[in-house]
Amino acid sequence: MSNINVRQQAISTIANAKHKLDRINFRGNQLKDLFGKNVFNEAVQREMLPKPVFRALQKTIKQGAPLDPAIADAVANAMKDWALERGATHFTHLFQPMTGLTAEKHDSFLSPTSEGRAIAEFSGKELIKGEPDASSFPSGGIRATFEARGYTAWDPTSPAYILENPNGSTLVIPTAFVSWTGEALDKKTPLLRSMEVLSTQALRILRLFGNKEAKKVFTTVGPEQEYFLIDKNFVYARPDLINAGRTLFGAPPPKGQELEDQYFGAIPERVLAYMAEVEAELFKLGVPVKTRHNEVAPSQYEIAPIFEDSNLATDHNQLLMEVMRKTADKYGLVCLFHEKPFARINGSGKHNNWSMSTDTGENLLNPGDTPHDNAQFLVFCVAVIRAVAKYPELLRVSVASAANDHRLGANEAPPAIISIFLGDQLQDIIDQLEQGQPKSTKHGGFMEIGVSVLPKLPKDAGDRNRTSPFAFTGNKFEFRAVGGSQSIAGPNTVLNTIVAESLDYIATELEKAVKGGKDLNKAIQELLPSIIKESKKVLFNGDGYSEEWHKEAERRGLPNLRTTVDALPIVIQKSTIELFSKYKVYSERELQSRFNILCEHYVKTVMVEAKLTAMMAKTMILPASLRHEGELANVVANLKAAGVEPGAALTELQTCMALVKDLQSAIAGLDKSLEHHAEGGPYDHAKYARDHILPAMEAVRSAADKLETVVADDLWPLPTYREMLFIK
Ligand code: ADP
Ligand code: MG
Repeated sequence: MSNINVRQQAISTIANAKHKLDRINFRGNQLKDLFGKNVFNEAVQREMLPKPVFRALQKTIKQGAPLDPAIADAVANAMKDWALERGATHFTHLFQPMTGLTAEKHDSFLSPTSEGRAIAEFSGKELIKGEPDASSFPSGGIRATFEARGYTAWDPTSPAYILENPNGSTLVIPTAFVSWTGEALDKKTPLLRSMEVLSTQALRILRLFGNKEAKKVFTTVGPEQEYFLIDKNFVYARPDLINAGRTLFGAPPPKGQELEDQYFGAIPERVLAYMAEVEAELFKLGVPVKTRHNEVAPSQYEIAPIFEDSNLATDHNQLLMEVMRKTADKYGLVCLFHEKPFARINGSGKHNNWSMSTDTGENLLNPGDTPHDNAQFLVFCVAVIRAVAKYPELLRVSVASAANDHRLGANEAPPAIISIFLGDQLQDIIDQLEQGQPKSTKHGGFMEIGVSVLPKLPKDAGDRNRTSPFAFTGNKFEFRAVGGSQSIAGPNTVLNTIVAESLDYIATELEKAVKGGKDLNKAIQELLPSIIKESKKVLFNGDGYSEEWHKEAERRGLPNLRTTVDALPIVIQKSTIELFSKYKVYSERELQSRFNILCEHYVKTVMVEAKLTAMMAKTMILPASLRHEGELANVVANLKAAGVEPGAALTELQTCMALVKDLQSAIAGLDKSLEHHAEGGPYDHAKYARDHILPAMEAVRSAADKLETVVADDLWPLPTYREMLFIK
């Protein structure tokens, strides 16, 4: 055939592409001047607001004091002036509906006057409350369309910023999204509630230790974001990457990640240029990105910010994903956050580094030099251990999605079994504590490198463990099961709430003892060992990927909820409803709505993938395979006509025919599973999708991937793994 196919076209376009890589001049734009340039931050507020207004606003932001609505007009006015100066024409309330993405609806600043002119206006009322119609977002039953009112409410703790566009900029105001009845329709509201709950309980502990200064305790989060960058030309030739964010077909490449030559390797020039522009854009928006490197899989990378309070960290992570998606296009790339874009190649997660910190800057999970006699640290640390041991299923379900199912439990991601890695030093102290008062701390000393010219390096007291879903890493815990594309709001809402419950329990016990005349340290020594005894089943320092651990975990009675469908019922079980209602983080109705949304989202994801699988198999893979079959049949016929034994050609033809037959029957099976309508509610549909549709898709893929290895290369229409992952 003379026409080259889309795949070959893609390769030749990429080979000849010239990308403009010098888009930013860092000599002209010093990094430090870029930072926060487009943010209505504390410095701008101080400069532009009347003093009493500034003070009132800061009190709300830093100490969680209730917002005084009387200051809204002054703030709105300053924001407007500041935004207009920077070329803004519109403003928007930005919110985080339960799609896990962000949503915005822009309004112009302009209002017509009676004289037929227009003036720029922005009132306190418009700043505080918006009413986007937005009735098409999932509400899981909370909002029937006949009572579809949903409101956005200004979140003053996350600063407004300007999003630049070549044709005029927009003032973006982070908001919470709630229904007319005050129920949360978004991911931010429950997160903010959970942060308040944790603050209240943590302060009770701090007061017992005599801390009178701290007015608020924040949870802090630094999410490390993994992602893939794939050339746009390849992505456009792959309907599955465009519509599902992951490949539904693709034979394993001859070279994958086995040589481990990509991890921390030199960053390709185009990718590095892209990263630099992403970082510059994020700096302007006040997102403190710090680290960049190659990840384990080919074409996979990581970006990590400096930690912030969890509300801001969540908003910034959403913004980061948005900026990364948008910027990729300028470099001819597509940025993929999907949890498993390529089968059998490492997937992408979001390591959620988490800690607690006072408004005076004290990290409550900082062990200090001698953690064994740091009673306050031990109390907070044991509270986290107790929380994870008591509610492992909640953590598991907080990261559950159809996409993350392909990653969790695979051999490079944390298993679906939730356990905690403490490291040698802390494990040793916890072991001592279980027996009574800990007496010593193991220290790392210095490393013996054996080269005299190199400096002596202090040795960390514990090694790392990459296989644990929940690890102590020096002065924070790292929850690694979060998926690459997920909002981190949900996992952090759960984490904050379960730790708050633990702190509540511990504070109540200690307060009782102290009131009864007991010495605080004595009370702690009596309480913590019993908590450790109850909770230690969740502590595991070995290899989380190993088969033995799965057996051992089962013996210990740790839950192993392998799939999303296994995990979802946890959302509405009695203990979950009791926990979240008690602390007013989610009401029963809000949980029910989230359960419905999660089920529906699971089903929709699988259905889209299944339809794509059928379409691509029928319109791309089968035709290519039949052409190949036809060519082989011609060869066989010609050989026969020439009076020659067709031998080898005939064998090839028969192999191909058998695979085509497998493919056709797998497609028929998938069609049949799609025609069938499952009875019952959203959960039954999710079960059906997992048990019938996913296996039917897998059968189609298996036949198609085998065909990829026999069909003539010039006939194969889809960019292969070898090409997508290695042509950069
Ligand atoms: P590691 O090498 O252990 O992963 P890094 O210093 O590279 O540690 O930090 C990884 C992430 O953890 C970064 O995003 C960092 O900001 C974040 N982090 C550090 N300290 C804290 C903390 N106290 N609370 C939350 N996140 C933190
Ligand atoms: Mg880390």
